[in-house]
This record gives sequence, C-alpha cells and structure tokens, in this order.
Amino acid sequence: VRHIKNPISGARSVMEHSEFILLHSEGAEAFAKEHSIELVDTSYFFTQHRWEQLQDAIEDDKTELDHSGKKQASHSTKPREDKYGTVGCVALDVHGNLAAGTSTGGLTNKRYGRIGDTPLIGSGTFADNTTCAVSCTGKGEDFIRLNVAHDISSMIRYQTLSLQAACDSVIMHKLKGIKGRGGCIAIDRQGNIAMPFTTTGMFRGSIDANGVKKI
Ligand code: ASP
Repeated sequence: VRHIKNPISGARSVMEHSEFILLHSEGAEAFAKEHSIELVDTSYFFTQHRWEQLQDAIEDDKTELDHSGKKQASHSTKPREDKYGTVGCVALDVHGNLAAGTSTGGLTNKRYGRIGDTPLIGSGTFADNTTCAVSCTGKGEDFIRLNVAHDISSMIRYQTLSLQAACDSVIMHKLKGIKGRGGCIAIDRQGNIAMPFTTTGMFRGSIDANGVKKI
C-alpha cells in the first residue's frame, strides 16, 4: 500500500472487518477508505536519506535492505549492516490474548510487485493465544522459505519447547543454516520474552506488567 498512514491499523481493520485475510494495492486502500483508516499523500513518507538510497540502488541495479546501501555506509562511522528498517511489536494482555504486528517498507528498489515476509501471516508475523506471538525482521525471502513465525509457534505446540528453545531452534539453527539474516521478537502465553537474531545487532526493548523496561 502507498497511502495508509499507519499500516498496522489498516491490517487490524482487515482482521476485524473483512472476510478476507490479505489485501494489497488499490483494493486494500479502497477497503481502508471504507473503514475510515487515515490515508495520506505519498509525500508524507518522503525522506531525503531514503530517496538517495533508492537512487543508489537503482544506479547499481541492486535490491537491498534499507541499511545496506552505499549511502548508509557513507553516513555512518561504522558498518550498520545489522540495522533493519522494520518495526515490530508483540504483546500479551491481562486476558491472555497474544498479538503481533509488523510494519516495513520492505527492500530498497524491490521490483515486480515483490511482497516480503512481513504481511504474510506465518512468515514474518504470527500470533496464537495457545502458543506465542512473533514479529520478524530481516531478508524476507529467507523468512518466507522457512515460514519462521509459524514454525516457532509449531515447535512450542508440537514439541512443547519453551519459547526460548523454539526461537533458538528456528532463528539460530534453521535460519542461520540457510545463511538467513535477521531476527524476531516473541512473547509466549506466560509472558516469557525471546529476541534472537543472527546479525550482530537488532534494536529491541520490552516492558512487563510491573512497568519494568529493558532496552
Ligand atoms: N523483512 C522485510 C522484507 O523482507 C525487510 C525488513 O525486515 O526490513 O521485506
């Protein structure tokens, strides 16, 4: 989508008000409009830095993660290959409901209507009240191949693994095994949190029911 100001609000509206699961492009925006989701001009999303990254990627005929182009390198004093642009959130409420949401611009200079793992339920985003909620970031193709978020939930369900063990198995072994780059944030029905990643860094934070924050 190109005009939905807060895509996760749009996604939530699809979840709550549509008989369908996955909408894209103009149809998704028509649905959003019908459900009073805020739409903005594409200029709202413009940043000079990201524009320059796109021009570089086009010039080099490359598709890349938003952190890995030469523009990123020239702006930073140290390599920032491990910073992904996705924003994700997972939560457990007092009633035991688990929820996950993930928002991304995808890859820089992606083409042909490429869709990443982020909106694919089970790949980059998944929640099930009986297991866990998971939100992923990284090179989407690897997460789609392994159906990462659902696999973590399945390992808890079928192998009765802990959240940490399931995350380690899927992210640190299976994903790493195909040289996949990225990670996830996850929470289970007891409120345990795991945030594994195969890169050298992933910005992350958590807050518990007592208000204790970790960043
Ligand atoms: N997972 C996203 C994608 O492949 C990219 C990201 O995490 O920033 O579209």
